Amino acid sequence: MPELPEVETVRRQLEKEIKGTTVKEVVVNFAGRLNLPAKKFSQILTGKKIFGVDRRAKLLVFKLSGNNFILAHLKMSGRFIVLGRKGKERELKGRKGDKHTHVIFKLSGHEELHWNDVRKFGFLKLVDAQGLEKYLAAQNYGPEPLDKSFTWQKMAMCLRSKPKAKIKPHLLDQTCIAGIGNIYATEALWSAKIHPATPVGKLSDEQIKKLHQEIISVLKKSLAVNGTSADAYFDAYGEKGDFEKQLKVYGREEKSCARCRTKLEKMKLGGRGTVFCPKCQKI
Ligand SMILES: [Zn+2]
Repeated sequence: MPELPEVETVRRQLEKEIKGTTVKEVVVNFAGRLNLPAKKFSQILTGKKIFGVDRRAKLLVFKLSGNNFILAHLKMSGRFIVLGRKGKERELKGRKGDKHTHVIFKLSGHEELHWNDVRKFGFLKLVDAQGLEKYLAAQNYGPEPLDKSFTWQKMAMCLRSKPKAKIKPHLLDQTCIAGIGNIYATEALWSAKIHPATPVGKLSDEQIKKLHQEIISVLKKSLAVNGTSADAYFDAYGEKGDFEKQLKVYGREEKSCARCRTKLEKMKLGGRGTVFCPKCQKI
């Protein structure tokens, strides 16, 4: 699933490519993951100007004129694809898209934005400001880890409110850090030499400080190379992220630890596969 670096990459590309354009037409091929009937969705959006694209955790928020917002979650395989600006054609399968192209936004300036989702877990919700506020409040997202206000003390206080929780699933629940998922939680715990099943209450200040530092570091490094395409992720230009080469543990079970050469192991934790080094990451 795309995590903060991947979603932020897409956001930056969308902001660059479609900000300031106007929606000329909306073609809905599949409305099953919209919050409104296709006709209403298209009607409301047609003629609206796109002011920009924000991100909160793994959620993209398109800001449009007339107090309209599109909330978009990529989930497992959702993709936005920007097509067709003159002089820099980035056509993938042409303007018709493929059978997984669920919504086509035809924009001013001959651009198109395609919403494509093979597995159909992703969604688009068209809401007003009140709807946006309500949705965000219900998610209980923690702080953005790349914001300056995200300090290790704040992270420690939040994590320790559930002292018995195991650190890895607690990182994934979004309440203390927004936007982190399996890839970056796994990597950060390895870098900080913390076993993924360690109860939060057993972590020292030093360990939490280190973990906080490693979370920020791995997210920044990944963002710098447009994220990880370990799963099905592509950015808005149809390109893969380049961070996979730098992964130390995620997807590397049975391979040797980059630090101590011990064979990496995989365990299930909170229903998710987790790779760790049994020597470097002791409880
Ligand atoms: Zn090791």
